[in-house]
Amino acid sequence: MSILDVNMYLKKLDKSKATGLDDVGPNILSMCSDVIAPALTYIFNLSIKSGKFPSIFKTARVCPIFKSGDACNPDNYRPIAVLPCLSKIIERHIANNPAIYLLSGLLPINAEIDIKIITLLGNILCSDKSTVEWKIANRQLKIKSCKSNSWFIDAKKICFKYQLTDPVEFLDTITTKETWKRSMVNKIKTYWHRKILDEKEHFNSLQYLSPIYSLGHCHPLVSISTSDPKIIQKLPPRVKIATGVYILQSQRAKYNSNAVDPTCQLCKNGEETLSHFLLTCVTLDAVRKPILEKIVRTAGRIFSESNRVNNIELFRLICDPYNYCKNNSDQIFDNISKILEPQCRKMLHLLHTTRYRLLGLDTKQLKKRRKV
Ligand SMILES: [Zn+2]
Repeated sequence: MSILDVNMYLKKLDKSKATGLDDVGPNILSMCSDVIAPALTYIFNLSIKSGKFPSIFKTARVCPIFKSGDACNPDNYRPIAVLPCLSKIIERHIANNPAIYLLSGLLPINAEIDIKIITLLGNILCSDKSTVEWKIANRQLKIKSCKSNSWFIDAKKICFKYQLTDPVEFLDTITTKETWKRSMVNKIKTYWHRKILDEKEHFNSLQYLSPIYSLGHCHPLVSISTSDPKIIQKLPPRVKIATGVYILQSQRAKYNSNAVDPTCQLCKNGEETLSHFLLTCVTLDAVRKPILEKIVRTAGRIFSESNRVNNIELFRLICDPYNYCKNNSDQIFDNISKILEPQCRKMLHLLHTTRYRLLGLDTKQLKKRRKV
C-alpha cells in the first residue's frame, strides 16, 4: 500500500457516512489526508504484513433503526453497525489483493477502463484530420479547461495520471497507431504490471508465491493444459497454500486474538503453522515421506545442473517451485512444470485430504453424517 493509495482512499471517503467509535469522521480524514497519509500507510502496511487487524478497527457503534409498528417493541428495530472510517480503508485495500491478477494475468478493471479510453482517444487522434471526430478532439483538447466535463478532458486527465505525454502534442504531428500504442497504452500496462508486483511485496500472505506476472497469461501454477478432473481437483488446495489463504489452526488463533488454541489438532505437538503442516507434523509423516523424498530427488536433479541446489529452501520450493526459475523460457522452467510441480501438487493434495479426513472435515464424510 503506497502513500498515494492511502491519500486517494482518504480523499474518496463518502462524506455522508456516519462516524465510528473513534469519533474521527470522513470529513476531517479527507481534509487532513496529505498530512496523515504517510503515518497511516505505515500502520496499514504493518497490519497487512503481520496479519493482525487492530481491535479498534473491528469495534462498531451499533445504532438501532426503527422499522415500523410498536416503537416500544425491540423487534421493530434494525441494528446498523458503524465501523471506524479507517477500517474501511484497510478493508477496501485488502479486497484489492493482487493475488487474483497474478494468477489470472488480468489487469484490474479500472486499468482496463483507462486503456479502453486511451485506445479510443488514440484511434481518433490517428484518424484523418478532416474527420469530425478529429476536429472535435482538436477543439476540445486545445480550448477546454481541466474543469470541463468534456470526454476529451477526462481522457487528458488519465494521461496526466500515468504521466504520459499531453495528447495535445499529438494533434500537430502525424501519429500512427503503433506510436500511440508504444508511447501511451503500453506505458499504462507497464505502470500496472509494476504496481501489482510491488503490492505483492506488501502482502505477507503472498510471500511464497513466485513473482511471475505475465499480462494475458495465467500464472504457471494454474496453467494446466488438461481437462482431467483428477488433476483439476488438486488445484484449489495448491493455490490456497501458494497464496497464503489455506486456513490452519495458527491463523484461526491469530484472527481470534488467541481465543482459539493454535496447537495442531492432529499431533497435538506445536503450533499448526504452514511449515508444520507441510514438513513436520508427525501424524502426516506416513503420507508425506515417500512423495517428499521424490520431490527432493527431482529438485536435486533439476537444480544441480544450474549450481543452484545449495540455495534451495524446501518449504519455499513446495509452496511454489517457480520461485527458483529465472524466466519462463529456460530448461528449469520446463522441468518444473512437467515434473516437479505435479509432484508438489500431488503432495499438497494428499496432505490436505488426509488432514481433512482425520479432522472430520471431509465434505463426503460430512454429507454421510448429515444423512444418518
Ligand atoms: Zn501436527
